[in-house]
Amino acid sequence: MARKLAAGNWKMNGLAAALAELDTIAAGTGAEDGPEVALCPPFTLIAAAAERAKGGLAIGGQDCHAAEAGAHTGDVSAAMLADAGARYVILGHSERRQDHGESDADVAAKVSAAWAAGLKAIVCLGESLEQREAGETLEVVQGQLAGSIPEGADAENLVVAYEPIWAIGTGRVAEPPQIAEVHDALRTALSDLCGAQIAEATPLLYGGSVKAANAAEIFATSNVDGALVGGASLKAGDFLPIVEALH
Ligand code: PGA
Repeated sequence: MARKLAAGNWKMNGLAAALAELDTIAAGTGAEDGPEVALCPPFTLIAAAAERAKGGLAIGGQDCHAAEAGAHTGDVSAAMLADAGARYVILGHSERRQDHGESDADVAAKVSAAWAAGLKAIVCLGESLEQREAGETLEVVQGQLAGSIPEGADAENLVVAYEPIWAIGTGRVAEPPQIAEVHDALRTALSDLCGAQIAEATPLLYGGSVKAANAAEIFATSNVDGALVGGASLKAGDFLPIVEALH
């Protein structure tokens, strides 16, 4: 059985005042023996968030550079994230793939960097509406999986998040049979890639307009071990019921 994980992605949201919301989320997250809960605020809040997070709440980044250090103005390394207290990093989110032209190879290099720094990588993949309508979904996500995961996965350092692009921030959620089809295929593809033991242990998250009202149904879907939550992770009142539904 894979670990269960509810991860929040604050994207480019959150000034210092938002740490009060994080405190409420931390207080409501419960003990370390429940599902894992991770919150990924913007870079500027990571150190403060990691200091305030307790119990079962871990902090993560939303991206890192593939290089260890050097002349990369504006970038943040995996070691810097770990040094600031992060334990996770989201990599290959579709907004990074689209807005920053990140390829599967770029994502794979970042995953290697994250692992070298001791971070768990949450690797995102998902098809566009056009690809889904053309019947290419499985081919697209399997290609992204194979291309974005380098050598070196183990039972602890990898999380895969399936996020259909057309469901992100749109209020349009994939139907459970659509999610099951992709998650079943991803589990098999992961087994081919990393071996059955790692594939079984790796949490497969669904992301795209997850909210309290639909979380339980999504979590009951085949091969779904949790969620990557954007908009509904910004407020404790929206996020904690999703964590609760994972218990
Ligand atoms: P959403 O975003 O929950 O706001 O749709 C999910 C994500 O992009 O991780």
